Amino acid sequence: CGIIGATANCSDVVPLIIRGLQRLEYRGYDSVGIAVVGNNELAVRKGAGELEVVRRRLSLDEMRGLTGIGHTRWATHGPPNDVNAHPHTDCTGTIAIVHNGVIRNYASLKEELLARGHRIRSDTDTELVAHLIEEGVKEGKDFVSALAQALSRVEGTYAFAIVNSREPDRVYFAKNRSPLLVGVGDKVKAVASDVPALLDITRDIVFLEDGEFGYVTPREVVIYRLTPSGYERLSDEEVRSRVRH
Ligand code: GLU
Repeated sequence: CGIIGATANCSDVVPLIIRGLQRLEYRGYDSVGIAVVGNNELAVRKGAGELEVVRRRLSLDEMRGLTGIGHTRWATHGPPNDVNAHPHTDCTGTIAIVHNGVIRNYASLKEELLARGHRIRSDTDTELVAHLIEEGVKEGKDFVSALAQALSRVEGTYAFAIVNSREPDRVYFAKNRSPLLVGVGDKVKAVASDVPALLDITRDIVFLEDGEFGYVTPREVVIYRLTPSGYERLSDEEVRSRVRH
């Protein structure tokens, strides 16, 4: 129901993610989770319940990382429980994703992925997207094209934030008909469902449009736009002109 992701060049992002999640609480939720990447490893803690309860139960404040994502869930596919809480991971345990929205072609995608041998742990629509990206990466695609390929298979509404342990300084994102903004701080770049979640990080914001995806690193914001034949990158000037204060 609310997502946040952040990457910084020299400070732990977990406090920023927890504060962002607190500011997303008004949107309503039943589960909470965080994933961080560091030392080329992915760590995920997630569970059903209120933020402060899950925070204590899973010691979320002990997590450390320069890059991470967080989620408050309002269940649409599968009951609120620890397994269905976000972030969700692929079979290799290197990709973690959070999602606000609903994937309409969930049933056919799930059937296809199971037939191709994926082990799917949750009842959510979201987990399927981690497995779709995994397939692209296994085919040798870079993460941007693997993500674009996954998005071309997905019908429905989404704001995604994604991390992967091979690129520990990046938060990938994508938007279609769920709100998603990019926060362009000096030393921290972030994505979130709304402005309040970004207020501790920056007031310089890009409002993403449907069909846009990309990634942030501590230094840059890279945005692509899906096109009928694939995708194209927005120029740096265009991205800069989209920043609102
Ligand atoms: N459809 C996803 C789920 O049921 C995401 C729900 C949300 O937006 O919180 O887990």
